[in-house]
Amino acid sequence: MRRTKILATLGPATDKEGVLEKLFYAGVDAVRLNFSHGVAQDHIDRANQVRALSKKTGRRVGILADLQGPKIRIARFSEDKVWLDEGQDFALDMNLDVNVGDNREVGITYEALAKEVVNGSRLLLDDGRVVLDVVDVVNGRINCTVIVGGNLSNNKGINLLGGGLSAAALTVKDKEDIITIGKIKADFVAVSFPRCAEDLNEARRLLADVDCYASIVAKVERAEAMVPEVMDEIILASDVIMVARGDLGVEIGDANLPSAQKFLIKRSRELDRAVITATQMMESMIENPIPTRAEVFDVANAVLDGTDAIMLSAETAAGRYPVQTVEAMVRVCIQTDKQRAARRSKHRVDARFNRKDEAIAMAAMYMANHSDVQGLVALTESGATPLWMSRIRSGLPIFAFSSHEETLGQVTLYRGVIPIYFELKDQDHAQLNREIVELLKKFNYAEKGDTFIITKGDLTGQKGGTNALKVVTVGEGLIPE
Ligand code: PGA
Ligand code: MN
Repeated sequence: MRRTKILATLGPATDKEGVLEKLFYAGVDAVRLNFSHGVAQDHIDRANQVRALSKKTGRRVGILADLQGPKIRIARFSEDKVWLDEGQDFALDMNLDVNVGDNREVGITYEALAKEVVNGSRLLLDDGRVVLDVVDVVNGRINCTVIVGGNLSNNKGINLLGGGLSAAALTVKDKEDIITIGKIKADFVAVSFPRCAEDLNEARRLLADVDCYASIVAKVERAEAMVPEVMDEIILASDVIMVARGDLGVEIGDANLPSAQKFLIKRSRELDRAVITATQMMESMIENPIPTRAEVFDVANAVLDGTDAIMLSAETAAGRYPVQTVEAMVRVCIQTDKQRAARRSKHRVDARFNRKDEAIAMAAMYMANHSDVQGLVALTESGATPLWMSRIRSGLPIFAFSSHEETLGQVTLYRGVIPIYFELKDQDHAQLNREIVELLKKFNYAEKGDTFIITKGDLTGQKGGTNALKVVTVGEGLIPE
């Protein structure tokens, strides 16, 4: 069984007839709607398609809406793209018409940039493929020398090496998109370029205003967010962390990225948050049906680092082989998950637990890892119990049983957690145990002789009410085979 989750970005490639359904069967756990591209209706249509397929296939697939944020971009060229030579002059000019760029100058849509760079600032365009050094700034025109040249096309992104751009995380467009996201009822909302807790709190408040209680994903993609205190503040203010390697790598330099990824994953897990590793994981599969060895290792290493989920961007959104890409990831995850399945964990062994339900979750995992158990079942209202459980290293599946659509959606990204819709009809605990096992058998997760740990509350149906741990074996005691 695969434990690492796969998050695939939707786009023109997955809009083609039948592709999304194939992604479901290939094993996608959640999809990303990228609000940097397309119009509101595209995202609404895709979300509807996902919900319909979830119904059809019986597999709850999560929906993550990714806000564009203050991504700074160049405007457009009259011929769509230009070639820049190393050593030549090139200017970014906020006074220039946005459609008339050429190989000497181009417009820019973020007015403050001219105020925030100084002589010697290094600008990285198109994820660092083109590098410019600022020579001087005159009346909103940033004159540069080309350090690394190459092709540059319309609307490419700009990052400042070392970070430090002041733009607020939520733009006017993001605030409009939040209204659409409220209609979609996304399970996750990703905030791009957050600088502090307040950026995330603001998103949470704006979403609550449109009656959306999605998990908040903080995309760590600014150099400032790697400062330890800031990182902790951001992690604690969010529900899920994304190691956004595209922009982060540009801001901190590619060589600093591997250690940043490892540290972020470790810290997120320590603070009981889920974590997504994103960008260029299978980049060459945009064009090719098989991954490179380096990509196989990249996916495997993220799994070994302890990531909950790995993300595909253009590979599925705009690539030639979206289905094969997911299949390749599945293959690598299954093999690598086995490596990490060690039934040993030092996670919070020295900690005191503040809550009864938290203590039960930890006790259940300790027991599961140290005895002959085939899986855990958490009857959950909020999803907290399976989250705590899945922070602990283990090879065992954690079944999150819930009647809440939101909760089932939010656990789709937690490593090793399988969402199962379960309506509570009975308060009699022996009967409840039987129903749980029946459902596991129906989905082929259980057979005679298998032992499961079930956590639940006396008053089932109450948030934070988990206070019991039961051990049941199929075919023993009150559980029929
Ligand atoms: P993006 O975010 O694809 O929205 O830029 C991910 C990243 O920066 O890695
Ligand atoms: Mn980004």
